[in-house]
Amino acid sequence: MSQPSPGTLFVVATPIGNLEDLSPRALRTLRECDAVLAEDTRHTRQLLAHFGIERPLQALHEHNEAQQAASLVEALRAGRSFALVSDAGTPLVSDPGFRLVRAARAAGLTVSPVPGPCAAIAALSAAGLPSDRFVFEGFLPAKVGARRQRLLELREESRTLVLYESAHRIEESLADCAGVLGGGRHAVLARELTKRFETLLDGALDALCRRLAEDPDQRRGEFVLLIEGAAADADAALAQGRRLYALLSEHLPPSQAARVAAEFSGVPRKALYGGG
Ligand code: SAM
Repeated sequence: MSQPSPGTLFVVATPIGNLEDLSPRALRTLRECDAVLAEDTRHTRQLLAHFGIERPLQALHEHNEAQQAASLVEALRAGRSFALVSDAGTPLVSDPGFRLVRAARAAGLTVSPVPGPCAAIAALSAAGLPSDRFVFEGFLPAKVGARRQRLLELREESRTLVLYESAHRIEESLADCAGVLGGGRHAVLARELTKRFETLLDGALDALCRRLAEDPDQRRGEFVLLIEGAAADADAALAQGRRLYALLSEHLPPSQAARVAAEFSGVPRKALYGGG
């Protein structure tokens, strides 16, 4: 008897608030798969019911993913196709699925994305911050020490930072961002994207902290925090270092002038010699 051809693992993005954002291809994939692998089956059952889809649901979340991966890979090999979804947005983006996708690909099976909503990309597309290069950091650590340490590591990052945050931690995270990255750093706080109370607040981190402290409504819902990279700061330091070097070298030997200017400005010595 011939072997059945293997099935496909479809990784299906679902809405982050507005149900009209479910793509026609996502709908068809959900209708046609053998089963839907869902982070929370109750949540996904409601989504499927809204669209009149009746498919078996199987839970796949961070606590059972590692253990389920092997049997799901076997089922795929045997010809079954699955649609992997999370509660909202794109699976694997701060959501479960990575272990299963890795196992399926390692087994030589087909993994196919059905792209769609993702809060990070939606926020970036509307924030008006540099978007040619950005760093997605997901959620900052919940504990204050680890959070500040992570921010310290990101302080010199020149690309736009993209962070996820929940309502119950947004104020303390924003305050730590201001404290570690500098309260003057420009940021955009995107809240409740695609939903009724969608809001994008623009301003320096300090000003955003004040805005949230004053207005409880701005602390509700789901958030993407985008922070301008450190490039502007780095450019200012370079200009200052070069000016200092030019002044000092009128009175000191060049190597000594460069050492002092580098120390004051934090700019590497070599960078001081270029430009005017
Ligand atoms: N996989 C999802 C995606 O593609 O965006 C993200 C899942 S993560 C567990 C949930 C976080 O995403 C929320 O805490 C929030 O930071 C962000 N998020 C999800 N939906 C959002 C929305 N409608 N507006 C703003 N942020 C949202």
